[in-house]
Amino acid sequence: MTSDRPAEALLLRATRILDPSQRLDGPGAVVVAEGRVLASGDEATVAPALARLRTDGCALRERALPEGWVLTPGFVDPHVHLREPGFEGKETIATGAQAAARGGFTTICCMPNTQPVLDSRVALEYVLSRARNAPARIYPIAAITKGEGGRELSEMRELAEAGAVAFSDDGQPVGSSRMARLALEYAAPLGRPVVEHCQDEELVGAGVMHEGAISTLLGLPGWPAAGEEIMLARDLALVRLTGARYHAAHLSTAGAVALMREAKRAGLPVTAEVTPHHLLLTDAWVAGERTGPLAEALAASGLPPLAPGPRYDTSTKVNPPLRPAADGAALLAGLRDGTIDAIATDHAPHGPVEKDGEYAEAAFGISGLETALAALLTLVHAGWLDLPTLIAALTERPARAFGLEAGTLRSGALADITIFDPNDVWVVDPARFASKGRNTPLAGVTLRGRVRLTILGGAVVYEAGT
Ligand SMILES: [Zn+2]
Repeated sequence: MTSDRPAEALLLRATRILDPSQRLDGPGAVVVAEGRVLASGDEATVAPALARLRTDGCALRERALPEGWVLTPGFVDPHVHLREPGFEGKETIATGAQAAARGGFTTICCMPNTQPVLDSRVALEYVLSRARNAPARIYPIAAITKGEGGRELSEMRELAEAGAVAFSDDGQPVGSSRMARLALEYAAPLGRPVVEHCQDEELVGAGVMHEGAISTLLGLPGWPAAGEEIMLARDLALVRLTGARYHAAHLSTAGAVALMREAKRAGLPVTAEVTPHHLLLTDAWVAGERTGPLAEALAASGLPPLAPGPRYDTSTKVNPPLRPAADGAALLAGLRDGTIDAIATDHAPHGPVEKDGEYAEAAFGISGLETALAALLTLVHAGWLDLPTLIAALTERPARAFGLEAGTLRSGALADITIFDPNDVWVVDPARFASKGRNTPLAGVTLRGRVRLTILGGAVVYEAGT
């Protein structure tokens, strides 16, 4: 906590402070000292803290943000791939954290599918040591099974003690129901959720895109929606059996949203996330036809239309795959009604080696941290999603799902703050990413809304245009 008499403090004034954790939405100020929030809210709410600082002779730096900029708690991303250790050519903890800061994310959770896999105390400690001075807080997710091999549980208690905030074999779903049950039973007393990438491997096989008319047209092996829904249904049955905390990664189908809605209605301790690309893009993008929610949202908000893309565009290859527009609509409905808790980018940087070439051979993944906010704001500009719901899914709700100290500007909270201009129009240029991963289907797309300032523990870690 802050001492009684800080020597210096920062006062940020904004015409809109949006903090869903406090139901705060309006003009106001945030007072920061010694890395923490001293007070936040309207002028009357922060006045006593300011008066006290002045009486104590504290040096107060004041910054009034331009009209229209929005100040929120720093964003929380529960699902990123930082590639270090093992694949530093694709990303490092440092470049991934810089990409996070540019995207307004101050807290990110990194997946364990590195080399070595994050299945040991030593591996976790390595990540945490590399993360120490990074421009974002990094929380590792440890593997459920040793080497993500699906055969033997990792030492979950030891990994939790070493700093794992959750457990997942993301990318290598836990195929055995018995192993999945054991994982839930062991994770439950540790207070950490099990995070599942829902994919029935036998059914999905070599599928590389959504199984439907377009995969048939393109002659590509299909990845059917049932592949996700079967495993989610199994997992929900196991949650009913064990009572353990469970988080479903990157939902992509209407059926998965319905299963999750039903599970929440039944009171199961479950949460779920969705990516910007599954909300906005469709399987038609694989064929170069850029139709669906993003195209419609851009038109509704008066932004330039999308140019057609190449056929077999490997930047659209992602796992789970892009789905038809009806799935995107169901995901959006799930986000709106609270069935889906969090936005996760599933930031998955790759180099040209993994992405140039045949569609079927290319690696799965999209570099997502630096475009997430602007892409999501198209839904707000189009009038399909309200900003407080979006910001809650980027802050308070993922923080709560993973038990992280983040996602709020309540007094005493870490002073992690994101400030964005929702109306700044820009063109996505992957060459300017901080991430080493330039793999995005949004290259060249004009979006509206940009992060201006990211503050971590009271210090500016990113400022646009500097
Ligand atoms: Zn995954």
